[in-house]
Amino acid sequence: MRFGNDILRQADALAAYTEDPPRLTRTYLTSQHRQAGNFLLGLMREAGMEASYDALGNVVGRYRAKDPAAPVVMSGSHMDSVRDAGRYDGLFGILTAIACVRDLSARGKRLPYTFEVVAFGDEEGVRFGVTLSGSKAMGGSFEPSWLDAKDADGTTLRDALTAFGGDPEGWRALDRRGREVVAYVESHIEQGPVLLNEGLPVGIVTAIAGGSRMRVSVTGLAGHAGTVPMAARRDALAAAAEMALAVERIASQPGKGGAALVGTVGVMKVRPGAINVIPQDVDFTVDLRSADDDARHAAVAEVRASFDAIAARRHVKVVADVFYELDAAPCDPALQDALAASIGRQRVPVRRLPSGAGHDAMVFPPVCPIAMLFVRCGAGGISHHPSETMTAEDAEIATAVLLDFLEHYAPPKR
Ligand SMILES: [Zn+2]
Repeated sequence: MRFGNDILRQADALAAYTEDPPRLTRTYLTSQHRQAGNFLLGLMREAGMEASYDALGNVVGRYRAKDPAAPVVMSGSHMDSVRDAGRYDGLFGILTAIACVRDLSARGKRLPYTFEVVAFGDEEGVRFGVTLSGSKAMGGSFEPSWLDAKDADGTTLRDALTAFGGDPEGWRALDRRGREVVAYVESHIEQGPVLLNEGLPVGIVTAIAGGSRMRVSVTGLAGHAGTVPMAARRDALAAAAEMALAVERIASQPGKGGAALVGTVGVMKVRPGAINVIPQDVDFTVDLRSADDDARHAAVAEVRASFDAIAARRHVKVVADVFYELDAAPCDPALQDALAASIGRQRVPVRRLPSGAGHDAMVFPPVCPIAMLFVRCGAGGISHHPSETMTAEDAEIATAVLLDFLEHYAPPKR
């Protein structure tokens, strides 16, 4: 095997850099971020790349084209994790790209573009509550107010970055819009069961789903659980439960234009929260996603209308606030076709599927066309969890696909 065993071994080694042993937790600008970053720097240099940290603590490796004016193709993923994470989420996308460079440089082969591999320091947003900060700086959507975000100990992102040796004002210079980058191609574990269920090692992402998130407050009237007759109640929890079922029903229908939707009520807080008191106040969250923005917007409107109808019928008050919206990121059709050709050359059937999860790639469309390769996730498709698995055989195929893609890709004439 040329790549698969090495990649899995490297992922095992990286899993040792954790804040929370024996569990894997690695958040932004910690000493574990530094350890993982240094490990990746070493791998990049061994593979024949120039590599260094940038101002935000991302590790950037460059495999230079002969021509210094050649365009740039980017790849990579994130090196941070959620709490109690799996070891392939993010890391696989970095390790597979470095493996491609190692193979190219061992053969003395240069590409007609400079190939850049980025290990992003912060995609998950666990420490400061700011997600995708590294990739957003490159995509031109970094918000300077994020530097004032604080972690649980009250340390600001700005201070943590300075302590890490980064430069809090350096994000501006990381913006890659309008420069030499012609494509961004990210490999990632699927984090779902679609490829597993179909017996396929890899798939091509058609679009990364956009999302809308709501905070919802339902206000009813508390009362004695023994004395208030059922018909006279204004039970906020019974209403909220019906609203959660409405989210499930709306997300289960095909959205506008037949697009797939998913909807989740993941948090529900009940007050006063006693066994013998009718619930007066309930706060809950809604997360709606689709690869089709129109379908998602239509679903948000339908959810709001159903909440209003339920509240009116049950004589409770509802306030629903959409506090977060991120548009879907379609993957470039020509890059998808190029990946399909590379998959075909490995004699593997081509499957295209949307990504329900967000990825670094999704903030790159202002810079260049994007593409993503998904790799089968074992153990029922579970991810963001220690039982996340990937086989060496699948890592091998996915790396062969990426390498084939890189060797066939001809940058557009400028
Ligand atoms: Zn990820």
